Amino acid sequence: MSKTIGVLALQGAFAEHLHVLSRLGINGQEVRLPEQLAQVDGLIIPGGESTTIGKLAVAYGLMTPLRQFAQHKPVWGTCAGAIFLSKDARREQPLLGVMDITVERNAFGRQVASFETDLYIPALSIINAQNPPYHAVFIRAPLIEAVHGTAHSLATLPDGRLVAAQQGHLLATSFHPELTQDDRFHRYFLHLIG
Ligand code: GLN
Repeated sequence: MSKTIGVLALQGAFAEHLHVLSRLGINGQEVRLPEQLAQVDGLIIPGGESTTIGKLAVAYGLMTPLRQFAQHKPVWGTCAGAIFLSKDARREQPLLGVMDITVERNAFGRQVASFETDLYIPALSIINAQNPPYHAVFIRAPLIEAVHGTAHSLATLPDGRLVAAQQGHLLATSFHPELTQDDRFHRYFLHLIG
């Protein structure tokens, strides 16, 4: 049976993720209600504003259903979505707390709030053995300050700071793979769904 990927559609760049999924010929579905989680095999939490996404998730009764979903199904958070997945964002805001990572919001300050850079991401060699550099777009991005427990780094900036992490079937990226034509990260997530 073909898989359906949900995209949390409370706020932010959910439409862009759905476009990539449709380019890949994958069923994508907007998720706004707890019962819609039963219809999807994995979930992408998009970039946007993590405080807003968190407050809306509380208002829509999604916090517990999302935590339960993340216990056994793949979930990938991009940018604000990565913050929302984390255990600690160093400030008071609703977090799912399912990924053992500490993040620092808006870590790149005002002047370089947005930038693009090429990353080498070893894990993507399972998608393309030649593994060319991955062009990553950062928009008021968080840093992954630390990984704990079974979480591990997937990608770092040239200076060694962490910008992608994985913990089993959970993924977090500081950058926005839905804003480029390179769909390797989406395919990597699909590979976790199997
Ligand atoms: N700065 C946003 C936050 O802290 C994240 C930005 C993004 O998702 N592009 O929630």
